[in-house]
Amino acid sequence: MPDTYVCSDCRGTTDRSYGVRYIVVTCEACGRHSRHVHESLVSLLDAVPEDDRPDDWDDRPLDERLLAALEQGYITLGDARVTE
Ligand SMILES: [Zn+2]
Repeated sequence: MPDTYVCSDCRGTTDRSYGVRYIVVTCEACGRHSRHVHESLVSLLDAVPEDDRPDDWDDRPLDERLLAALEQGYITLGDARVTE
């Protein structure tokens, strides 16, 4: 089964046959060259408590949210089914 990656900018998805944290590709949906985050990490972002989210959380690209959540320890890569 392929792994699905979600565009940081538009949430468009693309599939690859391997699982890593993110890939940098040109998005088929919005045409931007952007980070596509592994879908298992995207779902983990919901674990960040709403009270602890910055005001602009919803406006941030997925990759920025991911880095912030990792930095602040809300999620760890051990929670996701990705390599590394
Ligand atoms: Zn896109």
